[in-house]
Amino acid sequence: MPAALEMLRQMVGINSFTGNRDGVNRLSRFTGECFAPLGFTAEYVSSTNRDWGDHLVLTRRGRSDRSIALISHLDTVFPPEEEARNNFRWLVEGDRIFGPGTHDIKGGSVMMWLLLVALRSQAPKLFEDITWKLIWNSSEECYSPDFGDVCRARFDRSTLAALVFESEGRAAKESLLVVARKGRGTWRVTASGRGSHAGGKHEHGANAIVQLGQTVQRIAALTDYGRGLTVNVGTIRGGTVLNRVPHEAVAEGEFRTFTPEAFAHAKAGLLALAGRGDVRSPADGYACEVKVEILTESRPWPRNPGTDGLYQLWKQAADELGLAVNCQERGGLSDGNLIWDAVATLDGLGPWGDNDHCSERSLDGAKLPEFVDASTFVPKAMLNIAAIQKLYGA
Ligand SMILES: [Zn+2]
Repeated sequence: MPAALEMLRQMVGINSFTGNRDGVNRLSRFTGECFAPLGFTAEYVSSTNRDWGDHLVLTRRGRSDRSIALISHLDTVFPPEEEARNNFRWLVEGDRIFGPGTHDIKGGSVMMWLLLVALRSQAPKLFEDITWKLIWNSSEECYSPDFGDVCRARFDRSTLAALVFESEGRAAKESLLVVARKGRGTWRVTASGRGSHAGGKHEHGANAIVQLGQTVQRIAALTDYGRGLTVNVGTIRGGTVLNRVPHEAVAEGEFRTFTPEAFAHAKAGLLALAGRGDVRSPADGYACEVKVEILTESRPWPRNPGTDGLYQLWKQAADELGLAVNCQERGGLSDGNLIWDAVATLDGLGPWGDNDHCSERSLDGAKLPEFVDASTFVPKAMLNIAAIQKLYGA
């Protein structure tokens, strides 16, 4: 643990905000150096987005062709200026370690190192047999679809599993592994009307804001908690000055679902709103026009037999170790969404922490920044090791 925590301290000290290309690449090189003594060789894969750093692939060829992929990411959501402004940096308070990326996800990357070091000394045959493929996304926090291709190109039929090291969940005293994640689509709806003088020719106008107001009600009504579908109207703007009937208004938002079916349903429901609107000019019936664009789509990761099979191994290992473990379906995305249908995938294998994506601290302690609990590393590493041994033996 002392070596693992020192590695984590150095990783947290390197700002790797997604938009900080140099920082991400510096962390990537440092990570490669950390794993090199275990026999890993590094490959850097350019992102399709030139503003982002390179993805990192570390490989250690085993004696067998069976492989296991360990997945993490390099980037965090904290720009350097924000870290400085909030004095958000490595800070140990008892068992708790605050700092950018402590659990999302540098703690997960250190977990990978910890379990490989332990396997090398405690289960050397397994360690030497398996071909290990460690793959880091440079830009997970900004949705990076090309990373799915980077992974798929390195999976093959003898890849036993893809293990994702996002942090674990917690419910009471149970540690929660992630077996499904919602997919997310983002959208933009533009209402175009006809502008006119609000005093002299009011009836000649077709009010785009009024039209968009009607349309966003219909969008909001697509939410269906029963089928795990949420639709959020996130932003809205329109019009220019008060003496014009506005000719344009735009809303943007997202939707999330656990299943491909509900995802398709939501998408179809949004697209069906396109076309002629109900709001018309009283003078001549000129109708507003509604345009619907789907901006991004990241697919759901639904419950599936491959994931459930892995979860059973982790659950058995937990029972044998006397650890309370359960599973959860999570609303947020991870790289698991990109790869679950290529190879059996399990997520939430990192340590436990909380307040991810938060950098602020208030004097009364009501706001605390991201942290990880150091004592959660060893039990989780033991669980991961025991389950990997089951996976290898299966
Ligand atoms: Zn993450």
